[in-house]
Amino acid sequence: MAAYDVAIIGGGPAGSTAAYRLASAGASVLVLDKARFPRDKPCGGGVTGRAARLLPFSIEPVVEDVVDRMDCGLRYRHRFSRSVGKPLAYMTQRVRLDEFLLRKAAEAGAEVREGETADARELDAQIVIGADGCNGSSAKQLGLAEEVVHGVALEANYPHEQRFAGGMVVEIAVIRGGYGWVFPKGDHVNVGVGGNAEEGPRLRGELRRMCEEHGIDPDAARDTRGYRLPQRLPGTKLARGRTAVIGDAAGLVDPFSGDGMYEAFLSARLVADASLEVLAGRTESLEPYQEAVEREITPLTRAGWGAKRAFERYPGTTYAIARLPVTFRALAKLLRGDLPHPAVARGIEGVAIRAIHRVSRRAT
Ligand SMILES: Cc1cc2nc3c(=O)[nH]c(=O)nc-3n(C[C@H](O)[C@H](O)[C@H](O)COP(=O)(O)OP(=O)(O)OC[C@H]3O[C@@H](n4cnc5c(N)ncnc54)[C@H](O)[C@@H]3O)c2cc1C
Repeated sequence: MAAYDVAIIGGGPAGSTAAYRLASAGASVLVLDKARFPRDKPCGGGVTGRAARLLPFSIEPVVEDVVDRMDCGLRYRHRFSRSVGKPLAYMTQRVRLDEFLLRKAAEAGAEVREGETADARELDAQIVIGADGCNGSSAKQLGLAEEVVHGVALEANYPHEQRFAGGMVVEIAVIRGGYGWVFPKGDHVNVGVGGNAEEGPRLRGELRRMCEEHGIDPDAARDTRGYRLPQRLPGTKLARGRTAVIGDAAGLVDPFSGDGMYEAFLSARLVADASLEVLAGRTESLEPYQEAVEREITPLTRAGWGAKRAFERYPGTTYAIARLPVTFRALAKLLRGDLPHPAVARGIEGVAIRAIHRVSRRAT
C-alpha cells in the first residue's frame, strides 16, 4: 500500500492547483518543492482571463492591476490601441501568486514539503505527477515530454508609472518568433522580450531598446532575469502508466504568446480528473490525460505555432490582419476564455482568424 494516493513534484502553478483539486476531492496528496516559498520565478506575471476563470477560487488577493486595453506595435511602429471594457488579464507577481496557490493546496488538505528535491522514480505514491517546470528532471526520469523545443525570454522590473496602468504594451516581432511587453504592477512595471532560442544573444540589447522606445529608463532595471520557454510539439507523450507531466514540465507554454499559466492550470485540472478515475478504480492508467490534452490544449498549441510562423515569415501582412478591430475582438475572446481556441471563431471573426491561418500555411 503506497503512502500517498498522489505525489506531485513541484509546487508552481501547475503542481499546486493539481494538488488543490485532488486534495479537495479527498485524495491524499504530497507536494514537494525544492524551494521555500515565497519564491520567485522569472515571468511577466500576466494571468489571462481564460487562465483565471479556470481556477476554482479567485486570485483577487494577489492581483495588482487589471488590464482591459492592449497597446500594440510592430517593431515599435504602426501602433494601435484597443480596449474591450472587460478584463483581458490580471497582473500579479509570481512571488505572491505562487505562494497563494500553494497555501490554497495546503488548506485543501495537501501535505506540502518545501526545500525538498524529489526524484520521480523514488516516490511512495500510487500516482506520480511531474510539475517541476522546464528545468526539472521528472520528464526525463519518467521518459516523457521528449519532443519539446525551447524559446527564451528576458525580463526586468522598472519604477512604476501610472501611464501604464490598466493596459498591456505588446511589441510584435522585435525578437524573431516572439515579442516584447510592458506589464503594469502595483509598485513597478515589468518589461520583457522573448522569442526563439537562437535570439538569446540579442535579448539584452532588445530589452534596452524596448525601454527606450517606451520612455522607460533602461538603467533603472532591477531583478533582470532570463529563463526558458518550453514548447511542446503536438503528440509529445505526457503520460505513461500512472505517471504524467503537467505545465512547463510537459512543455505546454504557448509557442506564440509565451503564456504558460493557462496551460499549467488546465493540464493540472485534466491530470486531476484522470487521477481521480484511477483512484476510483474506473481506469488503470493516466492515458486519458494524454487524450484530454490533445483534445483541449493541442488545438491552441497548433494555432500558436501557426501564428508564430505567420508573424516570423510575413510580419507586415499578419500584423495588418491582426490590427483589424474584428481580429482584436476574436483575440480578446481568446484571452478572456470566451473562445477555447481560434479555429472555433465564427462569422466575421472566423474570417479574420482563417486569414491568419492561411498566411501561416503559406509560411510552412
Ligand atoms: C520571462 C517569462 C515571462 C513569462 N510570462 C508569462 C505571463 O505573463 N503569463 C503566463 O501565463 N505565463 C508566462 N510565462 C510562462 C510561465 O512562467 C510558466 O508557464 C509557468 O511558470 C509554468 O508553471 P509550472 O508550475 O509548470 O512551473 P514552475 O512555475 O517553473 O514551477 C516549477 C516548480 O518546481 C520546483 N522544482 C523543480 N525541480 C524540482 C525537484 N527536483 N524537486 C522538487 N521541486 C522541484 C521549482 O522550485 C518550482 O517551484 C513566462 C515565462 C517566462 C520565462
